[in-house]
Amino acid sequence: MTPPTGRFAPTPSGALHFGSLVAALGSYCAARAQRGRWLVRIEDVDTPRVVAGASAQILRDLEAFGFEWDGEVVYQSSRREEYRLALDKLWRQGDCFACACSRRTLREQGVASGPLGQIYPGNCRARSLPQAGHSVRLSTAHSGAIGFHDRVYGWFSLALETEVGDFVLRRSDDIYAYHLAVVVDDELQGIDQVVRGADLLENTCLHIHLQQRLGFATPDYLHLPLVENADGVKLSKQTGATPLDHAKAPSLLLAALRHLEQQPPAELEHETPQMILQWSVRNWRPTAIVPKPSLQAENFIR
Ligand code: GLU
Repeated sequence: MTPPTGRFAPTPSGALHFGSLVAALGSYCAARAQRGRWLVRIEDVDTPRVVAGASAQILRDLEAFGFEWDGEVVYQSSRREEYRLALDKLWRQGDCFACACSRRTLREQGVASGPLGQIYPGNCRARSLPQAGHSVRLSTAHSGAIGFHDRVYGWFSLALETEVGDFVLRRSDDIYAYHLAVVVDDELQGIDQVVRGADLLENTCLHIHLQQRLGFATPDYLHLPLVENADGVKLSKQTGATPLDHAKAPSLLLAALRHLEQQPPAELEHETPQMILQWSVRNWRPTAIVPKPSLQAENFIR
């Protein structure tokens, strides 16, 4: 079997936090345990959300926690041409259409909501609007159920047309959507192993639909149980996650390993981050990961 290529793909909307450390660690171990490559991609495609200095901070965080990536860091903000080519292909194939609906007008129409928000009911599919000044959506008409086998969560599927609806590939302000960027980048970077947080399980069905329309390969997927804050909400910059403290790298890495049920020996806490990562890769057991919402991160940190 050829060694996999995995990646860690943070959004630079702030410094890394404990939840992102879990994603970095899981993707790193999964790739390195099979002698694979591990790439870092900065997902700064949504430029208005980017916080100045966050990308550099994320790379410093990764270094302080002992992570070594292969090749150059890729920045989505420099890849608009790749996304345009993919969108052009879908447009020529008749897979997408321009849309004049805003979230507000859809709300006013009382459209139903699904696991990923408003279920777009296809209003503009047949209107033949020009792209300029409009968003571009991928049609999910007749897409049926799209499913995949997740290495932790097992079989997962969504009926895209009825549960998600046509989704945006490029916004009316000319920003390419995460869904298009991630699918194009994973393909062009040769990523065949995606390890990321379970908040993206549903999104994976959208990504597989896009991969199929673009003629791309579908990577192997493993979603990691989410870290929650004290209120049981997914830990994120918006829900009060604190930046990673470099001085606590060993205990935070051990806490991340415990979150993934990897049972590191307590003595490891006195080792360097590099040594802890070596142990993590050698002893990586993805089958031990429990597919459910986690206890609060704080419970794992001594
Ligand atoms: N950029 C996404 C995030 O920071 C991760 C996307 C992915 O791993 O596919 O949540």
